[in-house]
Amino acid sequence: MIAGYRGRFAPSPTGPLHFGSLVTAVASHADARAHGGEWLVRIEDLDRPREVAGAAQAILDTLAAFGMHHDGPVCYQHDRLAAYDAALAQLAARGLTYPCGCSRAEVARHGHRGSEGTIYPGTCRAGLPPGRTPRTIRMRTDEAVIAFDDRVFGRRSQHLEREVGDFVLHRADAIHAYQLAVVVDDAWQGIDQVVRGADLLDSTPRQIWLQRALGLPLPHYAHLPLVLDPEGRKLSKRLAAAPVDPAAPLPALHRAWAFLGQPPPPPDCTLQRFWEHAITHWRIERVPPTRSAPLPADQ
Ligand code: GLU
Repeated sequence: MIAGYRGRFAPSPTGPLHFGSLVTAVASHADARAHGGEWLVRIEDLDRPREVAGAAQAILDTLAAFGMHHDGPVCYQHDRLAAYDAALAQLAARGLTYPCGCSRAEVARHGHRGSEGTIYPGTCRAGLPPGRTPRTIRMRTDEAVIAFDDRVFGRRSQHLEREVGDFVLHRADAIHAYQLAVVVDDAWQGIDQVVRGADLLDSTPRQIWLQRALGLPLPHYAHLPLVLDPEGRKLSKRLAAAPVDPAAPLPALHRAWAFLGQPPPPPDCTLQRFWEHAITHWRIERVPPTRSAPLPADQ
């Protein structure tokens, strides 16, 4: 048991739930329930142009069909824009952000490659050069090394300035960046346990940096291996990974459970029996600490 455990599943509605996102949903749900905790759902629909009509509802229906029932109302990020603006204002008032006039192409031309894309070369850091108009708002980084203990990957650390650089909080298309929204919402929803895909492992130090700057509590983190397709690419809605079938949840649940390194549930069990087994037997220590692993057979 972890006292007061509150976790969440935070899908982006860019398509129906596929096996990769099912793995994340199953792990975050099992971990929450195994600790007697709450499990919330947040629809991360900030990027309206990338949203697929009907996907949010399809994801919610699939979660229910798979026996994963969330606590409380579903949070939609499109309802939360004022909270993100307030956080931006708070950071700006403390001089922790700055307007940046550089285009993506300019950053790519002048910056050097870091583990998380191109590192911003700092062109607008000391003030917007004359004649430039602001395009984005960036968060300052500094010499600090950000470290945290991941429940799957163990101790992780990142030198933000050197490995990531000053990062965007408000995009040129006027959309709040994921890094900002996720931090504001995890705190607002009282999330203290984050269980999500390992594609976000290297984003966590940026989120901790923002939590510290905004005076927000730091959740615990657990990152899960990503499911790879037969060509070794991450399964994603963009690559049109096959959606899981809400009419036949058990085979996919069994495969997700095995992918997470957990002991097999009894054969021929019902959905209810599956979850009873899952909640009793879930141990996050069994999840392999690897960034990705191939799709299990017959998916
Ligand atoms: N919305 C993100 C996704 O669907 C997950 C963000 C998170 O869990 O922090 O990949």
